[in-house]
Formats: sequence, structure tokens, C-alpha cells
Amino acid sequence: MTDTPFSLFAKTPSQISAALNLDKPFQGKQIYQWLVKGADSFERMTNLPKALREKLSAEHPCLFSSTVETSQSDPDGAAKLALRLYDGNVVECVLLTDREGELTACLSSQAGCAMGCRFCRTGTLHLKRNLNDFEIVEQFIHLQNAAPGKITHVVFMGMGEPLANLDNVISAIGFLHDPEGLNLSHRRITISTCGLVPGINELARRKVPVKLAVSLVTADDGKRSTLMPVNRSFPLSQLREALVRFQKVSGRRFTFEYCMIRDNNISDEDAEKLARFCRGLEVIVNLIPFNPCPELPFETPTESEIRAFTNALKKRAVEYTIRISRGRTIRGACGQLAGKLEENRQ
Ligand code: SF4
Repeated sequence: MTDTPFSLFAKTPSQISAALNLDKPFQGKQIYQWLVKGADSFERMTNLPKALREKLSAEHPCLFSSTVETSQSDPDGAAKLALRLYDGNVVECVLLTDREGELTACLSSQAGCAMGCRFCRTGTLHLKRNLNDFEIVEQFIHLQNAAPGKITHVVFMGMGEPLANLDNVISAIGFLHDPEGLNLSHRRITISTCGLVPGINELARRKVPVKLAVSLVTADDGKRSTLMPVNRSFPLSQLREALVRFQKVSGRRFTFEYCMIRDNNISDEDAEKLARFCRGLEVIVNLIPFNPCPELPFETPTESEIRAFTNALKKRAVEYTIRISRGRTIRGACGQLAGKLEENRQ
């Protein structure tokens, strides 16, 4: 077992002061501000006294616990980084650019995933381990260092189920949100879950005012249990109850992510079930055509099949959007992340 490495990412200025045994507490704040700017070594922190810089650099030559192993970019503005973690695991994170040029960081919360959703490559890897809070923050900083501008949004839609690693995710969100640092509004941070009911309840209890996206995929219990094993433990009725509770606390509309899979979940009957499930909830359905993966036994619907499904939703007054998946060519789109390097390593 590898020891958890030293890292200052995800720490507050006072925690940094304590961790480094600094005489002057304001130096903790100075170091914090350098970390937020993406500094990778104490040598770059030119407002610290030279002797202190040298001492800290000798003790900790590199500030990141992870290294960028590969970087790929896509013509549609997506970029994917594969990060090698201190224990050899690999996670991926993605930078997405929307039509208005706004930048979103898609972060991983776990190495692998235990949830086993059948339409997702990450699910085929099984769970290696939860990420530490600093490993989540480091993904953001690595992406920011590679980005053409300021990243303004974060989505926890990378590898892993964020609600299964809630403490570390919330701690990382605290760092990303800090108005003295990266200052990302909670409204611009989205946690995506496959429907882990205890996690949704816990998020509501802790009143973390982030946005919630639920990967619904189908409103048919039988099909959902086949496609998403989580549904066997937390069927749709329980999921709905948890979402009603969450909505009461958050007062926010949430999103259903609906991965459209050919011959699976896009019939007229599927639209009817989805419409019934949405009734009474403040929700918008985000339709995502399945992103092709040769390893998975599913297909993307055709344009006309998608049109037929959206017409069926329109007829039933279901509010929806269609998400154009970015990053397909670099396997950085939804459900395509799989830590390729990790697979190669074993
Ligand atoms: S969709 Fe999300 S929860 Fe499901 S296996 Fe993939 S990473 Fe895990």
C-alpha cells in the first residue's frame, strides 16, 4: 500500500500554514494564492523569502501529487488529460468548450467505478479507489493550466460516482468555491449521480447548494435494473422520494440525464413512462445520444429515431434539451472515460 502523499491542494490558508509549520500565518495565504494560480513548485512563489522558498523546495520539490501522462484535444474544443496518480492509478478529466466559448471542467471523483452501468466504459473498470480531495482539485488545476481561458463551470461527470465519495467531493468543492481563491459559484458546479439514494439524502442534509444531475436513462424499473444495477437497491420509487426531498431543501430544478440507446429506451412507451415520472418534479431532461464505444453492446440512435422520441416527449409536454456530446473523437464524451493507461498497465 502506497502512503498518501503530501499535498497542499484542497487546503485552506491556515491549514497550509500548519502543514508547513510557517512562522508567519500570512505566508499560508500567499502560498494558497500561488496554488490557485497553478504553481507547481515553491520556487515560483517569488513573494516568499528566498530562504523559505529553498527550504520548502528541498522538502517538497513538486506540489502536485499527480502528473499529466497524456493530453489529447478534439476539433470541437474538448481536451482530455490522463493523470497518473501517486499510486499508479490513472484518472481522466476533460475540458469542454460550449458554443459561447465558456469552459467547463469535467472531473472524476473515483478511480474506476463500482456502479457498473452497462452503457459506460468506466463501469467496466470496477472501483480501484476513491480520490482524495486534493486529487480532485489537482484535476481542475491541471485543466486550468492547459485551458485557453478561465474555467467557469465544473461538472462531476467524469470517472466514478461522486455521491459514493461525498466527503472528498464536498471538500474539493469548498476549495473551488472559496471567494478568496478560485471563486466558482455553487450554481456553476454540478454533481451527477446514477441515483444513489443515500447520497442524495446526505447532500440534502448537508445543504450543499450545488446543482444535481441524475442519470435516469429510463423510467422503467425493469429496464433500469438491467442497465443500471444501482436500481436494484434503489428503485425508481425511492429515487423519486429522495429527489422530492432534495428539491424541497435546494429549491432548485435538477436535471435528468437520459442517455438515448437504440432499441432500448426511446420508444413511445418509454416517452410515456418518462413523462409520468417527471410529473410534479421541477426537472429538465437532458437527452444524450449514446456515445459509441466498441467495447459496449449498444448503438447510437439514428437522427430520425431521435426525432421520433423528442416528438413523443413534446406531445407530453416534457421539458428537454439535447446535449451535443463533445470530445467523442478523444473518447472524452459521456460514458467514454476509462483510464486507458491503467488498462494498458495491467
Ligand atoms: S455512468 Fe457514472 S456511475 Fe455509472 S458506471 Fe459510469 S461512472 Fe459509474
